[in-house]
Amino acid sequence: MTLHHTLQATDGRARAGTLHTAHGEVPTPVFMPVGTAGTVKAMTADAVRATGARMILGNTYHLMLRPGAERVGRLGGLHRMVDWDGPILTDSGGFQVMSLAKLRKMDRDGVTFRSHVDGSKHRLTPERSIEIQHLLDADVTMCLDECIPFPATEEEAARAMRMSMLWAARCREAFVPREGYGLFGIVQGGVFPELRAESVRALTEIGFEGYAVGGLAVGEGQEIMFQTLDITTPLLPADKAHYLMGVGTPSDLIGGVRRGIDMFDCVMPTRSGRTARAYTSRGVMNMRNARFADDATTLDPECNCPACTRHTRAYLHHLFRAEEMLGPMLLTWHNIRYYQRLMERLRAAILAGRFEDEAARIEAGWEAGAAEAAALKTVVPGAAAALAGGATPLPGNAAAPLAAGDADPTSGVVAADTVPFPVPAGNEAPESNA
Ligand SMILES: [Zn+2]
Repeated sequence: MTLHHTLQATDGRARAGTLHTAHGEVPTPVFMPVGTAGTVKAMTADAVRATGARMILGNTYHLMLRPGAERVGRLGGLHRMVDWDGPILTDSGGFQVMSLAKLRKMDRDGVTFRSHVDGSKHRLTPERSIEIQHLLDADVTMCLDECIPFPATEEEAARAMRMSMLWAARCREAFVPREGYGLFGIVQGGVFPELRAESVRALTEIGFEGYAVGGLAVGEGQEIMFQTLDITTPLLPADKAHYLMGVGTPSDLIGGVRRGIDMFDCVMPTRSGRTARAYTSRGVMNMRNARFADDATTLDPECNCPACTRHTRAYLHHLFRAEEMLGPMLLTWHNIRYYQRLMERLRAAILAGRFEDEAARIEAGWEAGAAEAAALKTVVPGAAAALAGGATPLPGNAAAPLAAGDADPTSGVVAADTVPFPVPAGNEAPESNA
């Protein structure tokens, strides 16, 4: 049998199920940490497993350039190479070609581009994308589609969607069925309800093992994203997995699950972990904030990760101030654990028929954290109005810029949120999305 999804319970439109794959079963809703170039950054495979993550994502674009798809195939595939025996989903490469590659040229047959790494020339067609994902040994292979920037006119969204549907048929043709492996189609059509419906019709006519909603979290904002899900997910086959690509914040995840999404991936927990931002039951905290310098309490008392069970906020603050590697490692671990625990809680709540109660309880924790932080807030001369406190409510949309940096009361300036963990110059390619 090919990869498939079974439902255990629904609560409103929220679903709890199981994804059955060649590399094991995955309880859904599931959040997949992003392992862009064959590694979830700053984490060993054992550490990723210890967070409770059951499925990870790899990026076709990065892996085809380095170390090369044929080489990964010779090395036994991605599972063997990265020591991950659970399921892996790979994207098609299309999104990164649009966002990272240089000098790309699109035609009806595919896209030609130059690598952002060394300028070498490459070509991606629907058939080649499927072949690469086969070499990588992805449990879930994604169709190559054309991702367009937001905002786009209806005409442009229609053109790109219709071409993506032709490519989806070619991907279906090229995909070699194997036990426990599957191919997902991607619904496109921008924010236009008729185009989304047309895209669903085209994909369901072809038939896929799962359906992704693409082209969201590209700057449209949470409200429009949710509106698009409201009109799209009810059209998707109920007996297949529903995957919202590249999303999002914890708030986005709750809203996605509420609207019938089973699978998510996003760089947010890993990228934020490397830039000192912690997702907690009390909202987002920037560990560089000076108010943590003497804070001997636990980062998140509700969390059981090593950062929370063995260390203090003061130590985490010190690690980031001293630019020690362990800071990004611990906070990445914590953030992934936070996301996994969020999914575990939502799943248990759906099974118990109390999804909305649980969602409200989680959101109340973020609000209480924001209120506490506001009460503690130190007024920073000249900058106070622009600043949030140490814990801010979770930003509403995956694509929105991260909230303003926390105040550093000792310097009177905003701590830079976007200072990445130091890496060799020119070698850090952005991860899958955002
Ligand atoms: Zn933790």
